[in-house]
Amino acid sequence: MKLGEKRLFITISAGGLVLLAIFIAVAWYLIAPRLGEFHADLPGVVGVAAGVAFFVVTLGLGLVAVSAVTGQRVLFSQRITSTVVRILFPLVRLASAILGIDKDRVKRSFIEMNNALVAAGRDTLRPGTLLLLLPHCLQATTCPHKITGGLIENCHGCGSCVIESLLDVARKNGLPLTVATGGTLARRVIGEVDPAAIIAVACETDLTTGITDSYPLPVLGVLNERPHGPCRDTTVDMTRVRDAIAFFAEALGWAPDERESSPRTGSPDAEGSQEDEKERVWTRVR
Ligand code: SF4
Repeated sequence: MKLGEKRLFITISAGGLVLLAIFIAVAWYLIAPRLGEFHADLPGVVGVAAGVAFFVVTLGLGLVAVSAVTGQRVLFSQRITSTVVRILFPLVRLASAILGIDKDRVKRSFIEMNNALVAAGRDTLRPGTLLLLLPHCLQATTCPHKITGGLIENCHGCGSCVIESLLDVARKNGLPLTVATGGTLARRVIGEVDPAAIIAVACETDLTTGITDSYPLPVLGVLNERPHGPCRDTTVDMTRVRDAIAFFAEALGWAPDERESSPRTGSPDAEGSQEDEKERVWTRVR
């Protein structure tokens, strides 16, 4: 059981719910006399409705937190999980802005929380295409080749940027790979490919937007690294990309080429070590 960066999102969500409760109570106190002028029972009905809605969201946060921390899905579907997170996220942004918490830290916490929920919902994944979605800033600024918008095959594999390694891992695993210049192109590609799941590499802001825009489609977010500042000659930890591919491969029952040498059947010991490896992959993804 590991809280890690997820702790921040859960803590701010809880704080945001306290603020929301205060807001609801004050608003109800102020408007109750007006409502009473329409009907004597109306203040009570509105108060109970607001209380029930608040209870449902609080329960949702509790269950989402349990799923993320234990790695076990406790909500009925990913759609419900997504809806709870969708409701909580604006609340978290508002509460963190009021408390002056660094925006990128909150977004990193959200991404880790999302990844944990995708891992917890592994039994709900539908078979289908796994899309590798990359930002244009991974390409070397000195590269003369256009690789965006379905032109990834134009990459000459010179090794000057991480695109070569990403293309190699995508080919070995038979995954479609797209380098998108922005959200509009990314959405168009998702519409065309209709993937069952996505591995997205991007910065905190783009990943957060992409993940929430794609709900309830499962998206594992991998943060890029920015040794030269934002949006320019960025890179990504290939181990994290391979872990994400291995997670979906294990969950969907196909063997990533990277692991062809690992036996998938055999002695009980071998099966035991496969289970151990599977658990390690899920833990790393979470
Ligand atoms: S690896 Fe591909 S995208 Fe990167 S600089 Fe070389 S040719 Fe360009």
